[in-house]
Amino acid sequence: MKVLFVVSECVPFVKSGGLADVAGALPKELKRLGTDVRVILPKYGQIPRRFLSKMKKVKEITVPIGWRQQYCGIEQLVHDGITYYFIDNEYYFKRDSLYGHYDDGERFSFFCRAVLDAIEAIDFQPDLVHTHDWHAGMVNYLLKEEYVLKPFYEKMKTVFTIHNLQFQGIFPRGILDDLLNLSEEHFQSNKLEFNGNVSFMKGAIVSADMITTVSPTYKNEIQTPYYGEQLDGLLRVKDSSLVGILNGIDDEIYNPLQDPYIKEMYSAASIEKKAVNKSALQTAFGLPVNKDIPVITMITRLTKQKGLDLVKSVLHEILEQDVQLIVLGTGEKEFEDFFRYIEWVYPDRFKAYIGFDEPLAHSIYAGADLFLMPSKFEPCGLGQLIALQYGTIPIVRETGGLNDTVHSYNEETGEGNGFSFTNFNAHDLLHTVNRSLRFYEDKKSWNTLVKTAIRQDYSWAQSAFKYNQLYAELMTRSGSHVL
Ligand code: ADP
Repeated sequence: MKVLFVVSECVPFVKSGGLADVAGALPKELKRLGTDVRVILPKYGQIPRRFLSKMKKVKEITVPIGWRQQYCGIEQLVHDGITYYFIDNEYYFKRDSLYGHYDDGERFSFFCRAVLDAIEAIDFQPDLVHTHDWHAGMVNYLLKEEYVLKPFYEKMKTVFTIHNLQFQGIFPRGILDDLLNLSEEHFQSNKLEFNGNVSFMKGAIVSADMITTVSPTYKNEIQTPYYGEQLDGLLRVKDSSLVGILNGIDDEIYNPLQDPYIKEMYSAASIEKKAVNKSALQTAFGLPVNKDIPVITMITRLTKQKGLDLVKSVLHEILEQDVQLIVLGTGEKEFEDFFRYIEWVYPDRFKAYIGFDEPLAHSIYAGADLFLMPSKFEPCGLGQLIALQYGTIPIVRETGGLNDTVHSYNEETGEGNGFSFTNFNAHDLLHTVNRSLRFYEDKKSWNTLVKTAIRQDYSWAQSAFKYNQLYAELMTRSGSHVL
């Protein structure tokens, strides 16, 4: 079976969040199961030179965007046994950031059409096209509404994965004619129309043969108004083609036994070595070096989604205790400024590194004791899975993938791998942090909990198996499944 992944970011080339981790890890695992997965993404200026220099141009084509014909180079690179294709257009993709530009609608309209034209140009005919998030969503739609009429595309099935329903790619109605080369007929409530605009996410949902999302709990949540971002009604209609498959983590990249970024490698059998990483972390951040003071961390995009409003309202109460807290993140100015201020107020207890730094993230996962992730919603969440892998105990709110992967510790039975609370409420968060800090004092039980966390298996094997099954099932279906 030949599968094409269409995605806007992918490790190790370019990453702004968990989407890139998934796109980097899942194809490798699917390949192990015998599926030929290739990945196509934009050739961003941010891709490190060591990869750019190895790419080979396989074709040049032009792609129609409204009345214009835009240049599109198709470049190829084989990395770790996986074939990657890159859509090259410097005007669209050589920018100072991946997203957030005034013309994102145009950039990703171009990307989606370019992907479809590119596969024919290079004669790679996948059986199934698996797209991810809104940036790639118009691939599903254009394929089902337009390209399917050509023999090359006729039999292709499509899967669309929702990694985060909050970001939908919503653009003014004019985009249909100006950029997507689609007629007004597509501006209908069972097609692309969404509150008077055009939604790429909706386009993918109405046209994909199968929709997946990244955890079973999030699958149920997005069918309710609170989490559904106004698409809950459509997602309820689509219930029979919607599945939740939990993400995994790449245990070649996130593994305390073979991590080049950490001071001392360790496993569940040698957790005393984690203490070496803790002192290294405290030293690196200029915090008092003391193995008995619990170190809590957050490694995250600084946005409301991640529950930062809750953290903000009780941070003083947390920091009045004998604790250290390290934040690694970048995002909304409100939170960046707040954390800089807190660092000034509590220089011996709180440190913030405002920025994106992968090696630093690894050393924090290894050195911290607790990982705080009180999200308002969380499709899957990788932070808590990485934390578990490093024996750093997660404190989470029970939502989405956090609910599926972190089980609150039960003092009676000794079961559980972290601490959690239910309501999106700052004092519930504070209470749960305090509960974990009290538990930290009982070293024997704490060490058992750390070992339990490291021994959890959240690698990709199981999830990849489920995706493979889903692909196989789709291939046996005849015809397409459109609303
Ligand atoms: P999301 O995709 O919503 O941002 P996830 O928890 O699914 O959240 O994935 C976040 C990924 O990005 C994790 O691998 C996390 O370690 C990483 N990450 C987030 N912020 C930073 C940062 N500032 N520096 C380094 N890595 C980060």
